[in-house]
Amino acid sequence: ARRAALASSTGPGATADGHKVPLLANVGGPADVPAAVEAGAEGVGLFRTEFLFLDDSKNAPTEEKQVEAYRAVLEAFPEGRVVVRVLDAGADKPLDFLTPADEPNPALGVRGLRTLLDHPEVLRTQLTALAKAVEGLPVHLEVMAPMVADRADAKAFADACRAAGLRAKFGAMVEIPSAALRARSILQEVEFLSLGTNDLAQYTFAADRQVGAVSRLQDPWQPALLDLVALSAEAAKAEGKSCGVCGEAAADPLLACVLTGLGVTSLSMGSASIPYVRATLAKYTLAQCERAAAAARATDSADEARKAAQAVLSGE
Ligand code: PEP
Ligand code: MG
Repeated sequence: ARRAALASSTGPGATADGHKVPLLANVGGPADVPAAVEAGAEGVGLFRTEFLFLDDSKNAPTEEKQVEAYRAVLEAFPEGRVVVRVLDAGADKPLDFLTPADEPNPALGVRGLRTLLDHPEVLRTQLTALAKAVEGLPVHLEVMAPMVADRADAKAFADACRAAGLRAKFGAMVEIPSAALRARSILQEVEFLSLGTNDLAQYTFAADRQVGAVSRLQDPWQPALLDLVALSAEAAKAEGKSCGVCGEAAADPLLACVLTGLGVTSLSMGSASIPYVRATLAKYTLAQCERAAAAARATDSADEARKAAQAVLSGE
């Protein structure tokens, strides 16, 4: 049955009644692009640019090297959308020459956008390389910052993008509860939101994503996390802007239906999950997804939320 469902799984992501939900790929670099194309990804929803910085522990990659890598990914989706995330260094992704070595709590320290605002030359080189890489290509380039905490962060990032002359939409990742709570204020500065549910879970539950002993709290079905997703999606809708999900949550087919029901406008995941999410989404209407989302949010635990959504979608 699984193979039959997958065989019929082609084309753009949509619910049974035709509500479109673009299915995008998470990639770490040009090497991941063939799998994304093979899976029928409609573009890239999260291009993690950290890989470019791993070869040299002392220096940032040159602008030329970056232009080449970005162009290789952008060229693969001529009419599609590619969302590039600027460097997310620190915490679980430390870089010797950028990440402070003496922080007591690196996940709560200088990481993500904070690192880039402390090293504006690194951000400037990345944005300039992106501006050059997209020249002459019809692709819809979007650029987003990790770990945006408030409107000032969003403004600093948008200002840097404008200063680099970047022809792209600028967005903010929602990975910190403050960003979800004040999503409308952040949207005064940027054009889209993308929920990083891995970090959003970590910061909502004060549960380190690298510590197995607290993994129960990392479950993206936790109703508190669903509430923050709903807040972000509602804010984006009110502002006439988009709000995607690019964390692991989007790769769970049932949860993908719930996220759609919460108002999320695109889903980005590892390429291997795209056919499963596409096939599952195609089975249910938007109204069913909305009912599943409401049922999940009405519970008090991740397990209950999962069961409640399942019950609604299987017609129990
Ligand atoms: C996330 O935090 O959900 C996310 C997509 O970013 P990363 O996993 O790279 O931190
Ligand atoms: Mg993250």
